[in-house]
Amino acid sequence: MIRRVFLTICVLLALSSAAVAFDSGTALTVSASQETVTLRAGFSRKINITTLPSCVEVGIDCGMPEMCGIDPCTCGSADSWGVCSCNGLKDAMPDICARSEDENIAGVSVENGTLKIRALTAGRTTVTVTAALPHYGDGFATISVTVLPLGVGLYLVCALAAAIVCAAALLAVRAIRRKRGN
Ligand SMILES: [Zn+2]
Ligand SMILES: [Zn+2]
Repeated sequence: MIRRVFLTICVLLALSSAAVAFDSGTALTVSASQETVTLRAGFSRKINITTLPSCVEVGIDCGMPEMCGIDPCTCGSADSWGVCSCNGLKDAMPDICARSEDENIAGVSVENGTLKIRALTAGRTTVTVTAALPHYGDGFATISVTVLPLGVGLYLVCALAAAIVCAAALLAVRAIRRKRGN
């Protein structure tokens, strides 16, 4: 009796895991052109995000669920996923979104498959990119972001540039005065 219950549970578990595997499909592969980024506060960097596959061709259903099951299609015009394609096929592009673990250190935005990281304050954070495509399981990529403080070096360069501009202005004023004096 116990053995039979045990076997039934095993069969049920195997069936449910097979169903889950079928539903979520193969996971999308997501890659970023850079996996580690070091930026000074106040600067930003654009990173290309690519997915494999980059798009899928999906059916445009006839919208008549009473005739066609749509998924699975029963009216005989199925796409390669078994979904109705009575109204043709269309390219589905991945839906990409990004999230920064610490929004105070780095801010993120995504536009046309390009991730933009804005360095805000010194520290370390992780940016997680998620991509979704019909019939595929969501794919992820992580990017380690290090934000450096605006640095003494940069202040010195700014101070030096300001000093040069001031000196040049003073010299010009003097030269003009001298000319007027003559
Ligand atoms: Zn149809
Ligand atoms: Zn159909």
